[in-house]
Amino acid sequence: MALIVQKYGGSSVADAESIKRVAKRIVDTRRAGHEVVVAVSAMGDTTDELLDLAGQVAPIPAPRELDMLLSSGERISMALLAMAIHSMGFEARSFTGSQAGMITDATHGAARIVDVTPVRLREALDEGAIVIVAGFQGFNRDTRDITTLGRGGSDTTAVALAAALEADVCEIYSDVDGIFTADPRVVPLARKLGRVGSEEMLELAANGAKVLYIRAVEYARRHGVLIHARSTFSASEGTWVLDASKKSPLVPEGATMEEPIVAGVATDLSQAKITVIGVPDVPGKAADIFKIVAKSGANVDMIVQNVSAAATGRTDISFTLPKTDATTALKALAGEQAEVGFESLVHDDQIGKLSVVGAGMRTHSGVSATLFEALSMAGVNIEMISTSEIRISVVVRGVDLAEAARLVHTAYGLDGDAEATVHAGTGR
Ligand code: ASP
Ligand code: MG
Repeated sequence: MALIVQKYGGSSVADAESIKRVAKRIVDTRRAGHEVVVAVSAMGDTTDELLDLAGQVAPIPAPRELDMLLSSGERISMALLAMAIHSMGFEARSFTGSQAGMITDATHGAARIVDVTPVRLREALDEGAIVIVAGFQGFNRDTRDITTLGRGGSDTTAVALAAALEADVCEIYSDVDGIFTADPRVVPLARKLGRVGSEEMLELAANGAKVLYIRAVEYARRHGVLIHARSTFSASEGTWVLDASKKSPLVPEGATMEEPIVAGVATDLSQAKITVIGVPDVPGKAADIFKIVAKSGANVDMIVQNVSAAATGRTDISFTLPKTDATTALKALAGEQAEVGFESLVHDDQIGKLSVVGAGMRTHSGVSATLFEALSMAGVNIEMISTSEIRISVVVRGVDLAEAARLVHTAYGLDGDAEATVHAGTGR
């Protein structure tokens, strides 16, 4: 008997039929003799609809009330799911985030989990019940208010529950089959990975892969939670997020075998590039610029500083950031142009970022040469490069991104034999 935490995304519980299908899957797991704890997302696009509604009554909704509103989405799905399980003759009990002991800091809309005290969940399990928990929400002890964890937060709920209850596995169900070597909508020959290391998963999630949320992957890595990302709509194995050095009796032997140098290629069209032109090449200017950008709330990713032209003593600094942060950052920089002393700003929202991720990079040489060669053969110009120990990222023109990803995928020998079945899914 194992303790299994399952997370179902919004697309898995979009309507009554889907909820019944999920209930059946949960009951099957219980029938197999396992204890089951479920974290559930709001039905379909409920969260977006509630956000939209809030925007219609107030230009900037009060954060506390927004969390009260958004947390109601998961409350609907959890109760319906428990009812559906009841009607199949099984005992199920639903709990809100606060009842489940999801203790967070006080940051509305992006709360961090600080403690999990699942006393009531443990009691319910001991009494033989299936436990259903509302994903994406928590409770702050100081303010005594309901919080939410940020978009996609139900993944984090599931992983945090799995850690606190010392579950054997955290199964993340969505409408895609697992983690692929690339987004199958971009690279048709992408293959489903049997296993991916947690560090690789972290880099993939941080660089555009959308199946798992980065905060959930981070949490799982820190607490040693085994994740199995799989599809609600099929019984087949998905992808195990597990480090090669670790073993679990649940993970089939075959899944731990593959150990390619490159695990996958991630693509991201959500970033923009800002170039600060004519920055005086003296100490302190980069600090000035990035202090201003940070204060605007933008999350900077890549940074490149050009060599300065000797004649002018000035240089250009380019950086990338989420498209949604660009306008605010530009405004903030323009407001302090005179103080910093740069000449002008260029905003470019037509960029694409391609990243190659693989733990094997640590011990193999020539990985970057393969990437640059594939791009050069495609005639794709590289505008920026950044690396970590296990990742190489390049910024290219957005229109070139898909073709670049396909060629790079082939160059690393990642192509499968047949086109991946592409579901219309969003991975949620
Ligand atoms: N319902 C929330 C959202 O749509 C949380 C989640 O789905 O994980 O972001
Ligand atoms: Mg959702």
